[in-house]
Amino acid sequence: MADDDSRAGARYYSPDILAYADRTHASHDASLARAFAVPEGIPRIQVGPSEGKLLELLVRMVDARKIVEVGTLVGYSAIRMARAMGEDGQLWTIEYDPKHAEIARANIAAAGLADRIEVLVGAGAEMLPTLVGEAPFDIVFLDADKQGYDDYGKWALGHLRHGGLVIADNAFLFGDLLGDSAGAKSMRAFHERIAAACESVCIPTPDGLVVGIKR
Ligand code: SAH
Ligand code: MG
Repeated sequence: MADDDSRAGARYYSPDILAYADRTHASHDASLARAFAVPEGIPRIQVGPSEGKLLELLVRMVDARKIVEVGTLVGYSAIRMARAMGEDGQLWTIEYDPKHAEIARANIAAAGLADRIEVLVGAGAEMLPTLVGEAPFDIVFLDADKQGYDDYGKWALGHLRHGGLVIADNAFLFGDLLGDSAGAKSMRAFHERIAAACESVCIPTPDGLVVGIKR
């Protein structure tokens, strides 16, 4: 159902409704709660519980066995995706900040997923080329530096299997998507590149989530 108000951007959820939906469909077990509760000094910028659950469902829908993530933070989205894969699945996640990576490794070990998730410390642009020997991938999930998305998107399209998914968080660029900055132009180039090469959508989550199926 939609009406003129919702088409113009009005939303019918409140914090209470969101919390109800999260706990009914996307609740946290101990491992997820641990990776969602960041320590002092680390930003709380993980995907939300419902977006994390959507990632799990997408992993199941394409029966993913090989996933690349750019932007680990402390492992919440990596744990969501990796636990939705079979035991033979592998997820490589790239994190620039060694402190974040260290906490992520501890959270991943506590979730019993150390065999399935490898945390690579470095910048996305430097680490992605080290993974080409593992291609083709089933999913590439982008959630790091936003000015890198267009290059990451190009890399994803070159190394996903046909029918594989490119997924990208913060695709509304914190509200600046239509701005004049270099970052906004780059994010629009990312959208247009994905739309041209995929069957794609930008789901209007709080900050936009692109999902594209590579043709
Ligand atoms: N996907 C995570 C949240 C990631 S937050 C989750 O939902 O749980 C974004 C992360 O990207 C931060 O930890 C930040 O340090 C990292 N990052 C920023 N620039 C980067 C770069 N160029 N390469 C790799 N990681 C980067
Ligand atoms: Mg994000």
